[in-house]
Amino acid sequence: MNGHKRRIHSIATHKRKEPMIRLSETTKLDARSWSLQAIETCPGSIGADGALVAACSGCYATTGNYRFPNVKAPRIHNREDWQRPEWVADMVSALDADRYLRWFDSGDMYSLELAEKILQVMRLTPWVKHWLPTRMAKFPKFRVVIAEMQALPNVSVRFSSDSITGEYGPEHGSVIIPDVSAAPEGVVVCKAYEHVGKCNGCRACWDKGGVIAYPAHGKKIGKVYKTIAILKG
Ligand code: SF4
Repeated sequence: MNGHKRRIHSIATHKRKEPMIRLSETTKLDARSWSLQAIETCPGSIGADGALVAACSGCYATTGNYRFPNVKAPRIHNREDWQRPEWVADMVSALDADRYLRWFDSGDMYSLELAEKILQVMRLTPWVKHWLPTRMAKFPKFRVVIAEMQALPNVSVRFSSDSITGEYGPEHGSVIIPDVSAAPEGVVVCKAYEHVGKCNGCRACWDKGGVIAYPAHGKKIGKVYKTIAILKG
């Protein structure tokens, strides 16, 4: 009798089990994404003056759909979930049928332990092209693990410039521009705006090297431009 009760309990527990790995479908990218909550996992978003850098003060991932509970839920879940010992193996298995993954549609690689686990996932999934935008290279302790990621043939790590007016340095792999006419010479301009905000087969962000310039969009970043114009007088 007791054994029977235990069996029923075990079946009920199994039925309640939630999927552990939560990847987001992003309509823009034609690829899945593993993400965290923006800003609270983005230590690189804070400038030397203690305020958000320009690119993060207009962050798209703090407005619109990103405020909906169903969009927040997987990001909140992922912040705990990556700390499980089985997380790397579960990620590898979840990516079995994927060919492209974007890390951090929102959020950033805020923990060195997380960065080392992501590196393991990248190494164990050579069939997947990984694109990882980050500001964590600002912190010296992350540089070794980032260099190991960059050495992998299937990985594109892009350091995001803090600028929203097209300024970037030799270390950067992406920058925001006010519009297409402001694109610095030599950058690849993201053409998603020509395809109702979708990548439409473009995979430039997953390719190694070069600098991608993203034309700004959204009301929030529009306000940041207005503030900059007022401050400049
Ligand atoms: S540059 Fe290409 S791959 Fe990157 S976001 Fe734009 S359309 Fe997508």
